[in-house]
Amino acid sequence: MADFSLELNEDQQQIQKWVHDFADTSIRPVAHEWDEREEFPWPVVEEAARIGLYSVDFMANALFDPTGLTLPVALEEMFWGDAGIGLAIFGSALAAAGISGNGTQEQIMEWVPQCYGTADEVKLGAFCVSEPDAGSDVSSLRTRAVYDEANDEWVINGTKAWITNGGIADVHVVVAAVDPELKGRGQASFIVPPGTKGLAQGQKYRKHGIRASHTAEVVLDDVRVPGRMLLGGKEKLDAKLARAHDARHTGEKQPAMATFEATRPAVGAQALGIARAAYEFALDYAKERQAFGKPIIMNQAIAFKLADMAMEIDAARLLVWRAAWLAKNGGYKHGEGSMSKLKAGETAVWATEQAIQILGGYGYTREYPVERWHRDAKIYTIFEGTSEIQRLVISRAISGLRVE
Ligand SMILES: Cc1cc2nc3c(=O)[nH]c(=O)nc-3n(C[C@H](O)[C@H](O)[C@H](O)COP(=O)(O)OP(=O)(O)OC[C@H]3O[C@@H](n4cnc5c(N)ncnc54)[C@H](O)[C@@H]3O)c2cc1C
Repeated sequence: MADFSLELNEDQQQIQKWVHDFADTSIRPVAHEWDEREEFPWPVVEEAARIGLYSVDFMANALFDPTGLTLPVALEEMFWGDAGIGLAIFGSALAAAGISGNGTQEQIMEWVPQCYGTADEVKLGAFCVSEPDAGSDVSSLRTRAVYDEANDEWVINGTKAWITNGGIADVHVVVAAVDPELKGRGQASFIVPPGTKGLAQGQKYRKHGIRASHTAEVVLDDVRVPGRMLLGGKEKLDAKLARAHDARHTGEKQPAMATFEATRPAVGAQALGIARAAYEFALDYAKERQAFGKPIIMNQAIAFKLADMAMEIDAARLLVWRAAWLAKNGGYKHGEGSMSKLKAGETAVWATEQAIQILGGYGYTREYPVERWHRDAKIYTIFEGTSEIQRLVISRAISGLRVE
């Protein structure tokens, strides 16, 4: 067990500064351009790979930190730079987390590095759970994986929706129903290796925000993968299915849910980065901008908004850090992971809107970044569990009841 402390250790301070410098010099200056182009920012991700920020080593180092704080600290800085580009850099981590959370040691060693590639040859990973008719309700997946015993292969069919890096990734981690009768407990995760026949990108979504991050459908048409691509292995799956059939309530988490639960403070930290960017910008602006012969911050109406922004951002950070620490030290007791994501996501939407208000007409134009930050922030009440779903998780955790 590591002690909970608000004081970052030397390593964490160095990482914080290193990521901040990269965000300041290599992400911020090009953020507007990639938002307008609405394309995957390959040159920035390649640069991040060259300095080691986009790498399996960096992720492993952050994930093995016993305090849990290294990852949220790094992500806050990265997303302070820009959330769309931040997600382009961080998106592969969801696939890596899906593999680490469900795979055997050999599968982790073989496939997590392939989600990143090398500094010379950057690769991407995608984690494919959501479907057109199964977003919040992940137990209703229609994508089906059927075992072909004669060939020791799994045959996967279905359509995945809203997939970050979908279709452009090298490694797709796909969650599919193997025993639909069992709903969430009858699901398993598979690795679809690069170049597998039958996997194709469907429509690429044109989005409100985080436009530098690629989001697309993934179509799986008779995709055949070797038996060893089943994460965790067949024996473990058979045992799990048998247990689920015997007693339909084993309490075991579904693979997709387990991944999302563990990554919630990391998602909260991303939202925090956007909120802080907007707050800092609005604070500087309010000190500069003159109206009625004085800086607008001299009006309480503006100063109090900034005071509230500072307070809400700090409150969100405390929840994110607590959840990140608990995830490594004893686990969540009453929905702390969901609380952190919910608070940070809603704070980001609120704080970026306050920033637009403080900038007035300028805040509403694309000449200033605050409207982009507002668009970017909105995704944090939607993906990785909507705000309503987070409230559902918290309600169930605090009440012990299956609140609907
Ligand atoms: C940009 C982007 C990137 C994404 N990346 C990925 C990815 O990489 N991998 C992946 O698998 N998915 C990804 N997603 C999908 C994302 O996780 C889903 O969009 C999200 O879970 C919501 O699902 P939905 O869109 O189907 O909405 P729905 O589930 O249809 O929800 C619609 C509304 O109903 C509410 N609602 C639903 N059920 C309840 C309930 N029981 N109680 C109260 N309210 C409820 C929701 O909160 C929401 O407000 C991404 C989505 C976006 C937009």
